[in-house]
Amino acid sequence: MISEFQLIDRFFTRQRVRRDDVLLGVGDDAALLRVPEGQALAVSVDTLVEGVHFLSDMPPRDLGYRALAVNLSDLAAMGAQPAWATLALTLPCAEVDWLGEFSAGFFELAHEFDVQLVGGNTARGPLSVTVQVHGFVPPAHALTRRGARAGDLVFVTGTLGDAALGLRIERGELQAADDDAATLRGRFRHPTPRVAAGVALRGLASACIDVSDGLLADLGHILDASGVGARVWVDDLPLSTAYVHARGDATDWNAALNGGDDYELCFTANPAHRERIERAVAASGCAAACIGAIESTPGLRCEYRDGRPYRIEQRGYQHFGPET
Ligand code: ADP
Ligand code: MG
Repeated sequence: MISEFQLIDRFFTRQRVRRDDVLLGVGDDAALLRVPEGQALAVSVDTLVEGVHFLSDMPPRDLGYRALAVNLSDLAAMGAQPAWATLALTLPCAEVDWLGEFSAGFFELAHEFDVQLVGGNTARGPLSVTVQVHGFVPPAHALTRRGARAGDLVFVTGTLGDAALGLRIERGELQAADDDAATLRGRFRHPTPRVAAGVALRGLASACIDVSDGLLADLGHILDASGVGARVWVDDLPLSTAYVHARGDATDWNAALNGGDDYELCFTANPAHRERIERAVAASGCAAACIGAIESTPGLRCEYRDGRPYRIEQRGYQHFGPET
């Protein structure tokens, strides 16, 4: 059994990322950090609890990766450039193999995005992982949920529904050919935070959110915050070939509309920006698909391209159930 301080020293101080804006990192009573002149500090925190957000059989490496990925996705959705993270771990016991794997997954992604771990907390108890991330964005260019206007277009990065199908494959509820199964499971296990796309959308998107609970649920948050409604064209939802193979049907949009865990960005923009957006997002390494339009009438309407209504089957996951 190793002590709390040995644990921190062994697993959470050895990192490749060393940033100039970290005046003091892990090891003191607080970190000392420098925010660049003219930038706002964007801060976001998420907790993953065993049995609620992940099952006990999730490999610790995936858990470490995921705990940081979901937070970086929140910064991406604000158009912020990630810089630092803190990590609060509650563990039933200090198991060296588990910690090695967990920290490897965490630092793999931290290195990829030049994020330095600058502090945290370690306690004994039921397994839970809380990560807080900090990033920078010029305040006038932050992408909030509030700016969507009637006449704006609705876009989404990448493809939708892959993670939901990947989870079903992991659970043995869905069968797919080996290469499709690997693609979809990868999308669930290692979501890619769309950080570069978020930064590229500064000054172009009018509102933005990351798709964690499902497109309809998350677009619904933009609509509520902005006081508008939207029309979504199901035929235009971007589906991966693995998705279409696994469903065996290119018109089964349920997972794309309602599946969570994709961590793509859903955003709105004035139609005048469409070409610049498509170019800027493509340069960031993924595509942006136009999937709908904002309207002044509240509510969310799904339809086919030819105008026929499409019946929505369900909404995304909510921790405390829908409001009644
Ligand atoms: P304090 O008691 O002053 O809060 P701790 O003894 O909890 O400090 O932690 C010692 C140092 O290790 C602090 O700098 C803290 O930020 C850091 N730390 C503790 N746990 C972790 C962790 N899981 N990951 C990264 N840093 C951690
Ligand atoms: Mg202290």
